[in-house]
Amino acid sequence: VREALGLDAYVINRNRGSGLAEARFGGGRGVRGFVYIGIGTGISAAFVFDGLLLHGSSYSAGEIGHVVVEAGGPTCRCGKRGCLQVLASGSAMAARAATLIASGRSSSLEALPPGSLRGEDVCAASGRGDEVALACLEEAAARLGLAVANIITTYNPDKVLLGGPVGQVESPFLEMVRGHAARWAMDYPFSAARIERGAIGEESGALGAACLVLDRKLSLVLGSK
Ligand SMILES: [Zn+2]
Repeated sequence: VREALGLDAYVINRNRGSGLAEARFGGGRGVRGFVYIGIGTGISAAFVFDGLLLHGSSYSAGEIGHVVVEAGGPTCRCGKRGCLQVLASGSAMAARAATLIASGRSSSLEALPPGSLRGEDVCAASGRGDEVALACLEEAAARLGLAVANIITTYNPDKVLLGGPVGQVESPFLEMVRGHAARWAMDYPFSAARIERGAIGEESGALGAACLVLDRKLSLVLGSK
């Protein structure tokens, strides 16, 4: 892009971008430390402490979708087995719902065109009391709740924000994740952490990417540390 346009180009993972946007304009404002978890076809996170986004040594900090939550579980596209995103992403919810429907369970999701089912649809159906959708959400929430508990115990954040296409849908998912996290996290850091839905929504990734560019440009103008 830099060569083709003759302009500076920067790259950021969309959920890290969302974390930056939440830090500046959303649920991370006025908060010392928080973790934003984006749930869509995959899962990844942004760790923000004292206003700084944690990048890691090689820009992969926050890849919690590849934290193993079931040793020997289903194979992930990264080649390992039992990764969080194979068990708790929107794609995982949709695949599980399709399996339950194929096994004869009745669901409002059957009305969707074959192959078009997404995690967002499963969340929306759960809000209407669809039992297949609720079962899929509960399975995913158990895995995500385990990961959230371990994050809370490790990082002691003020908040954990759930977002992305699945995380931002109004559904019982947030409450289910909170319940599972409460079972597994250390009590003291858990009592300090609020688990909420992200405040910004769909445009948060783009907003955060704009923040990244402005930060870099301003540091060039004003002088960086
Ligand atoms: Zn993986």
